[in-house]
Amino acid sequence: MKRLINGKIIAEKFCETIKEKVEKLKNNGVTPCIALIKANDDPASEIYVSKKENLAKVLGIRSQTYKFLPGVKEDFLKNLIKDLNQDPTVHAILLQSPLAEGLSFKKLINLISPEKDVDGLTSINQGRLFAGESCVLPCTPQGVMHLIHSVKEDISGMHAVVLGRSVIVGRPMISMLLNNDCTVTALHSKSKNVLGICSTADIIVSAIGKPKFITQNFIKPGAIVIDVGINRIITPEGKKKVVGDVDLDDVWDFVEAITPVPNGVGPMTVAYLMSNTVNLAINQNRKKLGLTFDRF
Ligand code: NAP
Repeated sequence: MKRLINGKIIAEKFCETIKEKVEKLKNNGVTPCIALIKANDDPASEIYVSKKENLAKVLGIRSQTYKFLPGVKEDFLKNLIKDLNQDPTVHAILLQSPLAEGLSFKKLINLISPEKDVDGLTSINQGRLFAGESCVLPCTPQGVMHLIHSVKEDISGMHAVVLGRSVIVGRPMISMLLNNDCTVTALHSKSKNVLGICSTADIIVSAIGKPKFITQNFIKPGAIVIDVGINRIITPEGKKKVVGDVDLDDVWDFVEAITPVPNGVGPMTVAYLMSNTVNLAINQNRKKLGLTFDRF
């Protein structure tokens, strides 16, 4: 049956399980804590950080936010990350992207200890994921996998097409679909025949940041479509609106299931940030808890 995949409701349900884990942890003397570092004057980042702070609060997770304006010295951020790596009460560190001009995301992210790398973006965690080893999984692709599995549990052998190859979404998405036994095609801005390749996909995950790029011609009838894109546009009526990479109204008749924007992937990303924080807190306190991860 055709489905609009409601990421908001699925995330709320998932958060109930996270909350239970947090309560158990607190009863055992551990309060999970995430440090959020924002170094830009980007209004969208401000919204994302406050969403993360709010959900942490609701779930009983401690958050501490460090906000810097453009002009902050890279050395200062390096020292902050080193201090947070050493702090046993902080279990997870998030570097909000994008960073202000002049700051290197790649350099700074790789200073985060892989054990506290809550979005799985250090080269060590990305390499482990690519090698099919256990690692911290990036939040957005985890959310996407959860949404796909809410439609179909076994996706083995399906043809999944990923549009976009960024470190944050596209690349880990490709690895995770591959680890779920999909046949994966990766598309990017230099790819030829994007429309033709998409029209053979059982699953499309789009993360390109191009408003309503995907229309009905791209869709194989019965495909599952996950729209990661968040694009802020001005409508012909002059109103501000957030839309995805997919023209939902145009493709609706052809899909089996599709995520809307907003209320699709976005809430899942924040939920997995909290889930990763809790799991990192457990991992870093195994001895103190006297429990194995599996038993907890
Ligand atoms: P990004 O770093 O700008 O990467 C965009 C990717 O899309 C690049 O790999 C680019 O190819 C590719 N691309 C651009 N035009 C294309 C085309 N016509 N056909 C095929 N591929 C094309 O973006 P990102 O950080 O991955 O984010 C992508 C989108 O997802 C943005 O809208 C962002 O806001 C959104 N997002 C949402 C969430 C969420 O939680 N919902 C989380 C993260 C990001 P090249 O590599 O060749 O340049």
